[in-house]
Amino acid sequence: MPLTTPAQRFTSLRAELDRTAAAAGREPGAIAILGVAKFAPLEAVREAVTAGLTDVGENYLQEARVKYPPGSLPGVRRHFIGHVQTNKAKAIASAFDVVQSVDREEAARALAKAAAGRETPLDVLLQVNISPAERFGATPAEADRLAEIVRSLPWLRLDGVMAIGPITDDPGVVDRAFAAAREVFERVGGATLSLGMSGDWPRAVAAGSTMIRAGTAIFGPRPRKGDLAP
Ligand SMILES: *Cc1c(COP(=O)(O)O)cnc(C)c1O
Repeated sequence: MPLTTPAQRFTSLRAELDRTAAAAGREPGAIAILGVAKFAPLEAVREAVTAGLTDVGENYLQEARVKYPPGSLPGVRRHFIGHVQTNKAKAIASAFDVVQSVDREEAARALAKAAAGRETPLDVLLQVNISPAERFGATPAEADRLAEIVRSLPWLRLDGVMAIGPITDDPGVVDRAFAAAREVFERVGGATLSLGMSGDWPRAVAAGSTMIRAGTAIFGPRPRKGDLAP
């Protein structure tokens, strides 16, 4: 039977992830699924949530603001995974619980300023660049200093690392890139290594991912091409 709804796709992905995790010697359930919902309507997100999705990711601030009116997804953690423009920091900090894409000092400082006065600090991950095709992300060498800066800022809580794998058919290239992300994660610390997408998550799990970011695997093919981070 083809998987046709976000709820069915989520349930199937959860089961496959648990099997893969067990085969890799990881604890079942220890790896979280972030549902990446760019271009998916709120109804589709709600459907996946009824099937157990607890974390939703968005790339585009404007899309997220229109899609999720206040109170539209109770109990769901909202993650920003797009490029952080400093002039949008205030809006990002108020629309999201987690920012996975802190890739430079200015973005960290702008978010810290924007998060001041929140009930709880804003959780952030460092975005680390492990692929030559990626425009954004701190290099692995820059990540340690960036981690120090983030740790020194009030209102931010550093929880780990996010990285986008290279687009290639060569599994060795993917594995080396994922290993580089894992090394940075071990140095930086925190609980979350956000690694792996619909096409490469099993290798990311083998590399130590604690959160995969699944878009098409849950919400189906997207309407447009070239829709990774703007
Ligand atoms: C779009 C996107 C994803 C999800 O991509 P899929 O291949 O559809 O799973 C994950 N992470 C980031 C940063 C993205 O931009």
